[in-house]
Formats: sequence, structure tokens, C-alpha cells
Amino acid sequence: MRRRRDAKIVATLGPASNSKEVIGKLFDAGIDVFRLNFSHGTHDDHAVVHQFIRDIEKERGRPIGILADLQGPKLRVGKFANGEEDLVVGQSFRLDMDNEPGTAERVQLPHPEIFAAVEDGAKLLVNDGKIRLRVVSHGDDFAITTVEVAGTISNNKGVNVPDLYLPISPLTEKDRIDLDYALGLGVDWVAMSFVQRPEDMVELRELVGPDTAIMAKMEKPSAINHLSDIITLSDGIMVARGDLGVEMPQEKVPVVQKKLLRRARAAGKPVIVATQMLESMIHSPVPTRAESSDVATAAYDGADAVMLSAETAAGEFPVEAATAMDRILIEVERDPYYRQVITAASPTPGDTAADAITSSLSHIAGVLPLAAVFTYTESGFSAFRAARERPEAPLIGCTPHRRTARRLALVWGVHAVLSDEMSNVDEMVSNAINITMQEGFGELGMIIAITAGMPFGRTGTTNMLRLTRLKDLNGNANTHDDIPL
Ligand code: ATP
Ligand code: MG
Ligand code: MG
Repeated sequence: MRRRRDAKIVATLGPASNSKEVIGKLFDAGIDVFRLNFSHGTHDDHAVVHQFIRDIEKERGRPIGILADLQGPKLRVGKFANGEEDLVVGQSFRLDMDNEPGTAERVQLPHPEIFAAVEDGAKLLVNDGKIRLRVVSHGDDFAITTVEVAGTISNNKGVNVPDLYLPISPLTEKDRIDLDYALGLGVDWVAMSFVQRPEDMVELRELVGPDTAIMAKMEKPSAINHLSDIITLSDGIMVARGDLGVEMPQEKVPVVQKKLLRRARAAGKPVIVATQMLESMIHSPVPTRAESSDVATAAYDGADAVMLSAETAAGEFPVEAATAMDRILIEVERDPYYRQVITAASPTPGDTAADAITSSLSHIAGVLPLAAVFTYTESGFSAFRAARERPEAPLIGCTPHRRTARRLALVWGVHAVLSDEMSNVDEMVSNAINITMQEGFGELGMIIAITAGMPFGRTGTTNMLRLTRLKDLNGNANTHDDIPL
């Protein structure tokens, strides 16, 4: 089974999608990576869902990525007796430490550090900034606010206090416990929220170890200021627009998004554009024109992946949202202008054999049309470098490691396949020919480029390029062996 597009789709799982049936439908509709948000749900919920994804992976025979998202020091309100309440402009609303279920007049805000730092006149933003509260008075364990921008407030909605400095670490006690649990499940990517400094990623890497990829969620202005180092220390980044648009003036978000996409691509690290992409589809079976345009823009700007949050986690139309995303991406990628833009933005190759080889593929494809670029990759690094070039021919990332195949599910254009470790060049060539045809990327007589590193089994050593024609390896009629390249 092959997808009809290069950009990937991530879907957040939650109450609307936590069944094997819906996960299967989401995969079939185009989801490449599933996100388990440790801000919500119990460990048992995540374990069950994790197993469902692995079952679907087995049934469909395609590697699926799983991303565990750690909450970080996200401040959240408590729960409501009715699950949610509608706030109105001008009303008074109290936040306190009392764990009684909330009402239309008050709710718990279980974060003493906020009450310690809060000042009268400070603004509190709830639910990615959709609701604005202004503090009119406060004490040691409460704050009385006036509702300035109204909306529906519901269980565990996030709170941002951009006016205040809160001395909190990006990895909370909860995150450490969640991380252990996620690694025990065997997730492929771990995302850290509210990264502020490069040291945060160093700390995460130490805890995660070398076998799981780490992602920095870019949602703090300070992270944008340390962009280069954070990208270097991460395997990928997420443009987490929900909190980003609250932590900085939201009109700056589109410009920051473009910058993050450029810089991540230049570094050859996958980048996800996240939050409110098809937000109206929480309640509507079709997206707005503006939302379609937002998804398309992310694709034109070279995103590796776009993400669905509440649309698939808690929305009424999770599968429709995945389908809408898939269609928009396919349409963009059909546009010849997309190809032009993507090619024009090609980064300068680094001075390595791997980059010399991958960057030469576009020239080769201009002379001999390539049915596919077949990359042997151990850690995934060679496939990351190849994807950075955004080759026009389909990119097959072949690896003996299941973890690598799953990790590559997030990367632009990479169709990951598992196969045995290769022991010699002949085997490597025949394996590539077989897989390319089996997976539907080419027919007898077409040409593929194979890249690999020798000696086999080492990481990051791409140093070989081989062109070959797809042929019948059983020695039957019409082998195409006689057609010179
Ligand atoms: P983050 O800042 O990590 O994105 P979030 O609260 O915005 O956290 P999302 O995963 O973006 O969470 O999902 C958006 C909304 O969908 C949440 O605010 C919540 O209302 C709902 N949701 C998501 N997952 C769950 C879940 N497992 N259980 C209940 N509600 C969920
Ligand atoms: Mg967030
Ligand atoms: Mg969110």
C-alpha cells in the first residue's frame, strides 16, 4: 500500500478515536503517525490505544509512527461539574485551589506558582487564548477575574499567563513518569512541550536514550531565540501554534512558522505544523476555506507533516478530518508550482558523501527518469538527508530496523519498508528491485537509483550510488538486462 502524497499527517487520539475501529479508519484515510497526548487520558488508556495501533500496523502491513507528547509545565484548570460552562463578557470568574468541581462562577487552578506570581491587571488566557480573563484581585490561593473575551470553558483547558514569569522546569515530575511509561510502551517519537533552552533537549535526550527520536515543541518565544541549537539537539520540531499564538502576539505566528519550516528543512529534521488546522471540523463535516488554505500553505512551505488535534481527539468527524487533510495535500502536490517552490527552496548540501550523493539525484533524474530513489538506512539518517532534497521521484527508505521504519513515517516523502540486513551489493540490488515493484513504485524496464553505505550495518555512511533497471530476477523472458542504462 502506498500513499498518494509526500507530506505526512499526524492525528491526535482521544475519546473520539480511542477504538481500534476508528484508528483503522484513520489509518486508511491517510494518518501516518498517531499522537498520544499525555496531557489527557490515563496510562491505561494510552497502553490500550498503543496496542490498537500496533494491531492495525500488523494487519495493514505498513509501519506506523507513534508520537508521545509530554505535557510539560502546562497550566490547566480543573474539572467542571457539568464538564463545561459558557462564560459571558463582563462576568466575574474565580480561580482557586479548591478541588471541588467547577461551576459558571469558579474553577480550580491547581498551580500555586501562578497565585504566587500573579498581579492585579495580569491577563490569563484559557484554551489556546480563546478566552481572556483579567485579574482584578487576588490572594495567596485565589484570583478573582473579569471575563474580557468569552467562550466555553471545559475540563482541563490550558491556561497561559504571558505577562508573568513562572520559574518552572520544562520536565515536571508528571512528565518523567509519563516518559518512562511511554518508553516502556515503545513509542517512536517523544515530544517535549514548552522547550525554552537547548539544555532542555540535552536533558530529554539523556532520559530518552539513543533509540527513540526526540522532538522539540516550539511554543515559547525563548525557544525561537535559540532555534539553531534546539534544532541541532532534536530529531524533529513541532510548530505548536496553540500555545505559541498565546505566548507571542498571534500575528507573528505565520512568519515564525515559515521561519521554522525553512530552518528545519535546511537542517534535514522533520517538522510538524500543528493546532487548529481544521478546527471547525470538531463540529462540522467540512473545513472552512481558510482552514484548507492553512493546510495548503504549510505544504507549500515544505512541512514534513501537518497535524490534527481536537479534530480527531475529541471532534465529531475524526475520519472526515483525516480525509479532508489527505485531499488538500494531494491537490497541492499535484500543482506544478508546488514542485517549483519546493525545488527553489532546496538547501545547500553539506560537505559529506551522503549529501553529495543525494543532491546529485535531481541531476540524474533530469537525464534518466527515475521510478524511485531507494535508500538503505540504518538509523534513518540517510533517509532524512535524502528527504531534505525533496526528490521528485518517490523515496523508499529501506531498513532492517522496525524502529527506524516507524520513525520515518513522519518524514516527507519517505515510504519506509523493512527488509533483512544486506550482506553484499548483488543482494542489495535485487532486494531493491523486488521491493520497488512489490510496493507498486515501478514496472519492468524502469530505472531506480539505489543509495547505501558500505560496509553494511553502519550508521550515517552513505557512500554508494547505483543505477539499475527494474528486471525480472527469475531469469524469465523480457529481463530488460540487455537495455543499456
Ligand atoms: P497541547 O498543548 O499538548 O496541544 P491540548 O489540551 O491542546 O494540549 P490537544 O491534543 O491539542 O490537547 O487536543 C485538543 C483538545 O482535545 C483538548 O484540549 C481536549 O479538549 C481534547 N482532548 C484531546 N485528547 C483528549 C483526551 N485523551 N481526553 C479528553 N479530551 C481530549
Ligand atoms: Mg501545547
Ligand atoms: Mg493543542
